[in-house]
Amino acid sequence: MTKRIPTTDAEWREQLTPEQYQVCRQKGTERAFTGQYWDEKTPGTYRCAGCGEALFDAATKYDSGSGWPSFWEPAAAGVVGTEVDTSHGMQRVEVHCARCGSHLGHVFPDGPQPTGLRYCINSLSLQLDPAGE
Ligand code: FE
Repeated sequence: MTKRIPTTDAEWREQLTPEQYQVCRQKGTERAFTGQYWDEKTPGTYRCAGCGEALFDAATKYDSGSGWPSFWEPAAAGVVGTEVDTSHGMQRVEVHCARCGSHLGHVFPDGPQPTGLRYCINSLSLQLDPAGE
């Protein structure tokens, strides 16, 4: 259920809504408590809004209180990539889709066990694929 990865900026703009483009391709951040999935509890797979890659399982989603969808683990090893982000006067670890490079959010070391990680992800970067459909 993955999609072809756009090769040009024009194609990305065509494939994504303006709001998705701003987050996924320009590393924007949706406002807390405004996204589609921050309070979503439906079982299923969260796929990349950019390319359809399975990125997070709803079974690892938890309520972090942050107002963004939060997960303690990616769906599989290697599906998300990370890089140090020093923007906005902070040192954070940026998280992106390893397949298409779309920005997803950040990962913080204050999550629940067993990983202790909090993948803080924009709803706009995700597409929920409900279980059993
Ligand atoms: Fe992707």
